[in-house]
This record gives sequence, structure tokens and C-alpha cells, in this order.
Amino acid sequence: MANQTVEAGSPAGGRGSSPQDSRPSGPGRSLAYLQGVSVERVHSIGPRQTGMLAKSGVRSVADLLQHFPHRYLDRSLVVPISGLPIDGEATLIAEVVRSYRRTTGRRGPREMLKVTVQDSHPGGPGSDRGLGGIQRMEITFFNQRFRARQLGPGTVAAFSGKVTTFRGRPQMTNPDVELISSDEGSFEGKIVPVHSAMGEMTPVRIRSAVGNALRRARPILDPVPRSVLETGGFMDRDRAFANIHFPRSMDDAREARRRLVFDELFRIQVALALTRHRLVEEQEGISQQLECQLVTDFLDGLPYDLTGAQKRVMREIGEDLEGGRPMHRLLQGEVGSGKTVVALAALLAAVGSGNQGAIMAPTEVLAEQLYLVLREMLSQAGLSPPVARPQVGGRHMGSLFQASGSVTVRVALLTSSRAAANYLDDPGRARVQEDMAEGEAQIVVGTHSLIQEGIRFRRLGVVVVDEQHRFGVSQRSTLKHKGADRQPDLLIMTATPIPRTLSMTLYGDLVLSNIDEMPPGRSPVKTRVIQKTPEGLSAVYGAIRKEVSKGRQAFVICPLIEDSEKLDVQSVTSQYREITSVLPDLTIDLMHGQLSSADKEAVMARFRSGETDVLVSTTVIEVGIDIPNATVMVITDAQRFGLSQLHQLRGRVGRGRHPGRCLLVADSATPDSTRRMKAMARTTDGLELAREDLQIRGQGAVFGARQSGMGDLKLADILRDLSAMKRAKRAADSLVESDPYLLEHPLLAKEIAVILGDDVQWLFDS
Ligand code: ADP
Ligand code: MG
Repeated sequence: MANQTVEAGSPAGGRGSSPQDSRPSGPGRSLAYLQGVSVERVHSIGPRQTGMLAKSGVRSVADLLQHFPHRYLDRSLVVPISGLPIDGEATLIAEVVRSYRRTTGRRGPREMLKVTVQDSHPGGPGSDRGLGGIQRMEITFFNQRFRARQLGPGTVAAFSGKVTTFRGRPQMTNPDVELISSDEGSFEGKIVPVHSAMGEMTPVRIRSAVGNALRRARPILDPVPRSVLETGGFMDRDRAFANIHFPRSMDDAREARRRLVFDELFRIQVALALTRHRLVEEQEGISQQLECQLVTDFLDGLPYDLTGAQKRVMREIGEDLEGGRPMHRLLQGEVGSGKTVVALAALLAAVGSGNQGAIMAPTEVLAEQLYLVLREMLSQAGLSPPVARPQVGGRHMGSLFQASGSVTVRVALLTSSRAAANYLDDPGRARVQEDMAEGEAQIVVGTHSLIQEGIRFRRLGVVVVDEQHRFGVSQRSTLKHKGADRQPDLLIMTATPIPRTLSMTLYGDLVLSNIDEMPPGRSPVKTRVIQKTPEGLSAVYGAIRKEVSKGRQAFVICPLIEDSEKLDVQSVTSQYREITSVLPDLTIDLMHGQLSSADKEAVMARFRSGETDVLVSTTVIEVGIDIPNATVMVITDAQRFGLSQLHQLRGRVGRGRHPGRCLLVADSATPDSTRRMKAMARTTDGLELAREDLQIRGQGAVFGARQSGMGDLKLADILRDLSAMKRAKRAADSLVESDPYLLEHPLLAKEIAVILGDDVQWLFDS
């Protein structure tokens, strides 16, 4: 079957037949199998090259085959020397006939290399155009010593650059060079694939190694069901690998790429569909009621009404909580759109149904903030329990009080450095852990360490993960053992909206709820970038003074210096001193992670009450802090922050009736940080910022940071390939629905296990 789809017959390659022509024969090899074959087995790759390739992450034959060309040169579009546009940009493919080097220059030595080239192969494009004869020209390189070695006689290369004339003859100076053939190997195809170099292995060498690998590896087996391929109009995988590396036409290359992009996305989507099946479809969930007295009391205690979007999302969550399958939902929404209150309602639903709730933040500081916010909201709603002193036998104090009629919610905080509770003074870690295990602590706030081994809950009903960055799929799979052996309902909140393709990749096993409406009365925050100069700083101080004179308040944020809390404290403290001396008549307070919890609370309470005008702080206040009267956000050394963090911080102002301002004080900018600052000044749209962030950092960085466990994408592009992703998801969902254990698709199962690695391993255990 596969054989028939492979075309045969093309100009022969330099050494043996080209990989395009090698007719696949024999039983074939799967990509998973090739993942286990070392590149050293490839003809022309020895131990030295193996070491070099390993440094670029290429260890197996499969890795090498997935080192795709980053571009192609189409020889048929290349102009001959006689047709070069004078004073224009052009690409010329030519063969080096002679080269010589000399040193010139009166003002210091300049290394000069002159290369004479002629139109390559007389049967090629030059003569096709009837321009007659072989044409020669000179190309000059300055200070590019390595070119002498690279451009020996007989080498064929593409030269791209500006064409000038000298005595009526065309010439080029310092053009870009792309080797096509050299004594390392030749290539005669019409479309020249350009593979990027790895270590000392030149593109030409890589290309010939890829050719050798393909010849040995083919036919490459296809794990994707035929029906999927037919629906998508895809070529089979064997041909796709041959055509992406050595296409006969640009159309071939495009179609091959389309097929292989699909493969990358399909693997991920199948893994996600399997995940969803294991964690949702196959599980018995806990039926819990969002509509209960506790939640009603809580919502009644809020000083505002929910927005339409919050109500809709609440209904979606309510249905999941009640249903027989566990909830597995992503809550998305712009900074400040009011996700927290929705998540807290879900936690209270667990409590109202006799279960426990847990909420996890990515860092300790954020967990602490979340705890304070939750405690505060409960107390506003009149749901705070009386505080007891811990004592022997005192554990049941909370329950006793509750029995006397008032409904309260017992909340605890547990991080690796701190334990606290709203029903006990200074309880200590051991006590909090005990209370979790016995169900006394009804809601627990913590970091991801909450789900670590050894930490037990009595009846975990709802788990909320705030600002998820590192909560991988395999971690989610362990939640079940934290409850009463039923899968708890899971709600994941993302800090900012992200492009759809990215959320389909990172959270594709989750159902999406979107809060797409801001609470009323907000106006967008105006952002300005200010140079860190004396004038710039005095403008900043002026802006602070002006707002304070109108009765408003300001934040001044200092960045994280390295990874040391101590240094942070030093920097924020010196900032505090400076501002205090410049604005001696204002009330200024200081906040950082090393303050005791009581001090932090006191600082926040003073700021909230309006007693303090300016709060100088580290990023402890990044999330969860809500002071509607604060209208100025100054971020010092803003160039050190990432876009999503800047966006979060900016979201701390403009939360009330008064419009907010954000002043980014930046210094010694890199091109990337300049781009970030410009983006911040341009838009307050989190989705647009997320796109920008992707473009600046690249999808690799984003994947890595989030530890999606979904491997890295080599061809697929998160910003571009949305429709391919949707197609892959549709195909994966229907495949998994009909074959949830991939019993009829063993090749695909193997490939997912091997290529996506450890993070999906649990799917295939048992
Ligand atoms: P997010 O977590 O989505 O960034 P928060 O949940 O922290 O946003 O909410 C931002 C602020 O808006 C909070 O101070 C919250 O009290 C307030 N808020 C939430 N919902 C509403 C609403 N419906 N009307 C007015 N204010 C709201
Ligand atoms: Mg939040």
C-alpha cells in the first residue's frame, strides 16, 4: 500500500540514489522504533559527530529525521549571472572555480577573499534561459577567514546579497552563503533543502546524513488511522518524511509539512483525549451542590453583584459539580475579571456538601495572599469561625461552636514555611496536617506541595489550582488518592487568557469556562514607559504626589533580584528610603516576603484603610490584592519582568471608579525588553500580550516554563496552526471514543508513549 504512493524516478544524487528514489521495501520501521536507534548507526556519522549532534539534542535516528530543513532554495527560480539585477538583491547559485586571499588596507589589516564563481552545471538553469555560455563573476568577502576553507574550488553554493558593478561586470560583497555541495557531499535536486548546522556539522553534511538516515529507515510506518488521513487529504508518513527533506517541488514540501504538523498535534490531542477519558469518563465523581446556604451567604456578603459572565460560568461549574463525572475545567479570564470569587464559591460548595476544598497557588507568597483574601471575604460574609487557642483536646472547638447554630468555614494555610488557620491561633504544621486528614480544616490553601505524598485529606471534594504553571497532567492523576477514593472536582484558573491553540495544547483535556466581561465601571489603565534618569524619576514622583493629593494611593514595585529573598529585601528597603526622603510629607509603607504574617497583614490593613499613601513592595502583591482606591502602579526596573507578570501587576490598579495609571521605569534595555515595554504601553488586552510574549520568547520557552509534558513542537506553530489543531482534536476525540485504550492502534500508542515520554507514561501503565 505504502509503496504505491511513493513516486520514483528523479535525477540521481551524487552518492548512490537520492533518498527520494529509494523504494521503500521490507516491513518498515516506526518512528518509535527509530527513536531507539542511535544516530551513530547512520552511514557518515561517527563517534565524533554523534557527540556533536547530541549537544543539539539529536541522539536517535528519529531525532535526526525530525531535524527539518528551515528553508528551501528553488533552483528554478534562481537567476543566472547574466540576468542578475544590478543594484538589486538576488540569489545566485554558482560553483566556485578559484579563490585567493590577501590582506589589504592602510588603516589596519583587512583580510580579503576573492572568489570567482560560474553558473553551476551547464545543464542547469543558466542555459535553460538561452543566455548562452558559462558566465563568471567575482564575489568578495572581507574579514571572513572561514570562507576560504568553506569555498574551495568545486563547491556549489547559493549567494544572496546586493549586486553591484565594477567596470561593467556584476559583483557581490559579503553575501549570505548557503552551501549546496562541497567535497562533503553533493546535491543535484531542483529544490535544495537547507538544514541548519549542528556543532561543526555543516548544513551540507547534515543534509547528506539525513539522506543516509532516510535511505536506511524507509519505509517509515504510518500510525495514523487511514480514515483520518483520508479525511484530511494527507499523504502518508513515509512520503511526508521523504518530501519534507528532499521535495521535488515546493508544493510537495508544503504538503509534507502539513502532514507532519498534523502528526505533532494529533499525538498531543490523542494523549489529551486519553487523559480526559481516564480522569473523567472512566471515573466516578462526587456529586456536590453549588446551590446551598453557604454559597448563598457568601455571595450575599459580597459588596457587589456578579457580572453576567461570572453567573454563566458559575452555572457551568455548578453543573459539573453536580454531575456524576468529576469536573475537569479551565477557568479563563482577564486579570481582574473576578475569577477568585467564582473559585471560592466552588470551594464552598464542597464544604456545603460535607467535603473539603483545596486551593493551590504557584508560590508560597501567593498562597499566603490567597489565604488572606479568602479569610477576609469569609469574615465579610459573616462566615468566620471563632478563634480558639490550640490545646490538648481543643481540636473539636470549631465543631462545638458550629453546633451552636452559626454556619462558619474553617480555613487553613499550609506551605512549607508556614501554617495558619482562621479558627486557631498559631496552630503549627503538624496540627494543620492532622486537621486536614480528619476533615476539621474545611478549606486548605497551599502550594502544590498540598498534593505531595504523605499529605492527606479526609474527603477532598473540590480542588482549585490558581495561576497554573506547573500542575501537570500526571499530577492531576494523583488527586484521586487524596479524597475518599473518588475523583475530586478540579478547577484550574489561568492568570491571563492565552491563544486558543496554546490552551488546546496545554489544557486540551479540560473544558473551558471563560469570564469575558469585566466588572462594571472599570476604565483601562494608561501605561507609560519612563527612562530611569533623574528627570524620569522626578516625573514619577510628581505623578505619585499628584494622585495622592487627590486622595488616591500608589504602589511602587521592585523586582526580584536573582533568586534571593534577602537581596530583594535590601533593594526594596533602599527604594523605600529613597521615596521617603523625596516625598517626606507622604505616608509610606514597606512590604516584602520576609515580614511576619502579622506585619504583612498590618501593612495591608493600613493601606486598605487609606492610612498609607504609598506602598513600596516586592512582587508579593502580584496577585489577589485589591485596593480600589489605588490608582498608580509604578514598576521599577520594569525591564526585568516578564510580560505576564507586568500585566498581573498592572491589574492591581484601575479596579475602582478612578482611572488607573501604570508607570514602567526601565533601564538598560535589551531588544526583547524594549518590545515588552512597547507592548505594555500599547495594549491592556491580556490575549494580545500573551501572543506578543509567545513571539518574543518563542514557544519552546513557553512550553518549558509550563512543563506541559507534551513534548516540544518542531514544526507546528502555536500562533499559526489553530485550524490544524482543531482538526487534530476532532480526529483524536473520535478515535479515543471508539478505542479508549488504543487496542486497535498499537503503533500509535507506542509512538505517543515514546515521543511524549514520562508525562504520558501513566496513561499506559496497567
Ligand atoms: P482575577 O482573579 O480574575 O484577576 P479577582 O477575582 O481578583 O480577579 O477580582 C478582581 C477584583 O474585582 C476583586 O477585587 C473583586 O473583589 C472584584 N470583583 C469581582 N467580581 C466583581 C463584580 N462582579 N463586580 C465588582 N467587582 C468585582
Ligand atoms: Mg486571581
